[in-house]
Amino acid sequence: MNIFRKKEREFALRRIKDLKVRFPEAEDILRFTECILEYQNSVLERMGEPRFDLSNADARIKKGKPALKLKGDDFRPYLCFLGELLEKASKCGTREIEEGASYLRNLEEGEVLSLVDYFLENQMADDVSRMMFCAWIQPVLYRTSERISFDRDGWLRNFCPVCGFKPSVSFLMDSEEGEGVRFLRCSLCLTDWVYVRTMCVNCGNNEDNSINYFVEKDTDYIHLQVCEKCGHYIKVVDLRKDGLAVPDLEDIATVTLDLWANQKGYTKIEKNLFGY
Ligand SMILES: [Zn+2]
Ligand SMILES: [Zn+2]
Repeated sequence: MNIFRKKEREFALRRIKDLKVRFPEAEDILRFTECILEYQNSVLERMGEPRFDLSNADARIKKGKPALKLKGDDFRPYLCFLGELLEKASKCGTREIEEGASYLRNLEEGEVLSLVDYFLENQMADDVSRMMFCAWIQPVLYRTSERISFDRDGWLRNFCPVCGFKPSVSFLMDSEEGEGVRFLRCSLCLTDWVYVRTMCVNCGNNEDNSINYFVEKDTDYIHLQVCEKCGHYIKVVDLRKDGLAVPDLEDIATVTLDLWANQKGYTKIEKNLFGY
């Protein structure tokens, strides 16, 4: 595995410990996230090279389609890891998670794979299944994405160039692509790509007077970008203000920002692992 990416996920586990202290209101969710991350990091160590056929990946990307056209069956070799995840989640999750995990554990292989198929095609499932499928598929696609090349600053679409899912969070960073560039992070495979900073990720609106930004003073390295035209929002984590931030984790930790946005009637562009 690419050493940089390996370090990145190991680092994420350390960041969670800091976030638990900083955001006590999200401690339970973060403790569960920690449990999921431990599982994922252990899978990343053991899973070996992913087995996806990437022969059409370049051609698909050139046509503006995501590199992978995923089917439930692609994940059949990794079903043993799902069993492991469900067991772990039952132990450290809430009662609702325990019940959902136990329901999935009692299904036949074929039934699970057809639920996964439905999820991959429609990007929808009940809350617990969605969380379990994302947490399970994430490390497999994370490794696969290392072998897919795409133009990081030329893709500019609002869906992932690797798996086609939508981003659940975005961030600002100085990089080879420029200063204060905005990246989107895929909700399923954690791939990052550049997107216009001032543009709504949902509808493409970039009129100044209908894009608003909201900041909480205690978490001023994160702002909400809200589009008044379509009513959607996304968080923007400024890595120039907090270089240790891990965008997908900061998103989970700042659940109060989502509650605030939902009360105002705004809808998130894509839910995170925990369904908000
Ligand atoms: Zn993706
Ligand atoms: Zn919009």
